[in-house]
Amino acid sequence: MRRTALAIPLVVAVALLSSPALAESPQDRWNLADLYATPADWNADAERLRGQLADVQGCQGHLGDSVKRFGACMALIDDAQKRYQRLSVYASESHNQDTSVDSGLELDQRSRVLRSQYGEAQSFVRPEVIALGRAKIDGYLKADPSLGVHRHDLDTILRAAPHTLDAAGEGVAAQFGATSDVASSAYTLLSTADMPWPTVKLSDGSVVVLDQSAYTKYRAVQNRADRKLVMDAFFGQYKQFEHVFGATLYGQLKIDATNAKVHRYPDVITRAMDRNAVPVAVYDTLIAEANAHLPTLHRYFRLRGRMLGVTDLHYYDIYPPLVASDRRFPLDEAKRLTLEAVAPLGPDYVAAMKQGFEQRWMDAYPRPHKLSGAHMAGSAYDVHPYVLVNYNDDYESVTTVAHEWGHALHSVLANRAQAFTNAGYPIFVAEIASTFDEALLLRHVLQVATSDDERLLYLGSALEGLRGTFFRQAMFAEFERVVHARVDRGDTLSGAAMTKIYGDILRRYHGEAEGVMKIDDVDAIEWAYIPHFYNAFYVYQYATSIAASSLFADSVVAGEPGALDRYLGLLRAGGSDDPYELVKKAGVDLATPAPYRSIAARMDRIMDEIETIQARRAPKS
Ligand SMILES: [Zn+2]
Repeated sequence: MRRTALAIPLVVAVALLSSPALAESPQDRWNLADLYATPADWNADAERLRGQLADVQGCQGHLGDSVKRFGACMALIDDAQKRYQRLSVYASESHNQDTSVDSGLELDQRSRVLRSQYGEAQSFVRPEVIALGRAKIDGYLKADPSLGVHRHDLDTILRAAPHTLDAAGEGVAAQFGATSDVASSAYTLLSTADMPWPTVKLSDGSVVVLDQSAYTKYRAVQNRADRKLVMDAFFGQYKQFEHVFGATLYGQLKIDATNAKVHRYPDVITRAMDRNAVPVAVYDTLIAEANAHLPTLHRYFRLRGRMLGVTDLHYYDIYPPLVASDRRFPLDEAKRLTLEAVAPLGPDYVAAMKQGFEQRWMDAYPRPHKLSGAHMAGSAYDVHPYVLVNYNDDYESVTTVAHEWGHALHSVLANRAQAFTNAGYPIFVAEIASTFDEALLLRHVLQVATSDDERLLYLGSALEGLRGTFFRQAMFAEFERVVHARVDRGDTLSGAAMTKIYGDILRRYHGEAEGVMKIDDVDAIEWAYIPHFYNAFYVYQYATSIAASSLFADSVVAGEPGALDRYLGLLRAGGSDDPYELVKKAGVDLATPAPYRSIAARMDRIMDEIETIQARRAPKS
């Protein structure tokens, strides 16, 4: 999920529990003083914002006065938003670096108040622009070419005109809108607070309470009986609540379906995709192509079985790493490897990343009370991006650095090239920039690896990343497509019905009929564990992004004429146009099979390399 400050969490949070104490120097902490030298400066800027918001409200009812007034109001709203984003990055990252400190929490809360004040102050803009209408807005754009920077935003607003009700209708919809989070709130409370977690005794005698974070840790252990125990107990607990989880998800689907209908969309997916003008064909091509390439996924599972020494692969065998390694990667090595890896993107790109490493844009190491996981905040337009990771000295941490700095450089290039109003980019393109750099990292570490053990570590990690980011998200996307379609056409769905739908998809993706992997009945409750289903048609973008970045990386690395410029052009374009069009203009059409074929071919190449190494190592008989 995306926060206002464009913090993009990784799909998989970085485990940081029980990490050894790591040597931290001031160089490894970010410098938030680049945003505000002192808290007093933050306060003064917040005061300035409040003054601006009063002026913004003064624009209400006057956008149609004249082109001059319209332009002045647009500029004012932009400046207020830019100021808010800078305040917000400082506040939220102050809090994230140490959640136990009251001053950071207070700043964060004050920044949230500012956000709602900003939202309220400019809430008249959309309805007023729609009321002015296309002809009037086009007239403005023609009369004053400097308004051109607002064209995309205005087009986006006007596109919603046929789906916007009259004032009375929108008023009623807004009243009901206040109840739109009841299902997801109930789900969150149940799955994070109220559900009693099962306790299991592992083979070493330790007793573990299987909450969410313990589950993600212990499902990956090497001892097979332990991970079976862990998955059975964890999903078994969800199964106990199948009725109520079914009721909360059905409630969400129903809310989504009603909202779509009320706003004159034929179904939920059309409404969700219309937000960023992504054709529904992209979604359906993703699902069709993921299914067409299931033999590649099944080949991976068979290889996994061989590498783990398991002949009857089960779903609980999916998480232990293919290659156990105690190779350590100090932070400086991660930075060096990433810089070397991104060389194909040219000296300017490398120099900007190097500058970020040297000038303390990153908070690197885990500490007590620091936010877990990893994210990048790129929305302080006049300053620079900030990166938070929990660096752990393992190879996964190196890939996290490459990923988050891919986001950071995207923001650097977009902020440099675009006016503020067009610099921010949606998730549909964001995950292309991050996974592109991960692909370059893999290419580079394979070139410099000095042993087959090392190569297997990199190849195994990359394979697992591609499974988790492409096939698993595509599988979630398919489940969403099916359950939304059922509720769109008026069916009711129980928890048991959802388990049946999910179980069928899970079995198909994991090749049960082909004898690849056994899915136990209890595994089919997994849908209840996935919070993203309360955010309709969102996760598919992880799968489309990594497919796009795979095809972009193929062409840049192969040195195809123009490919590098087109790709950098995509990064520089920020949010200046609809994201599907931007990606297409850069050379990748996500409504065609090519990107999905590229990612399957990438997985096949990685498996070829692993099998070559295995053949080299096999004892000659
Ligand atoms: Zn990301």
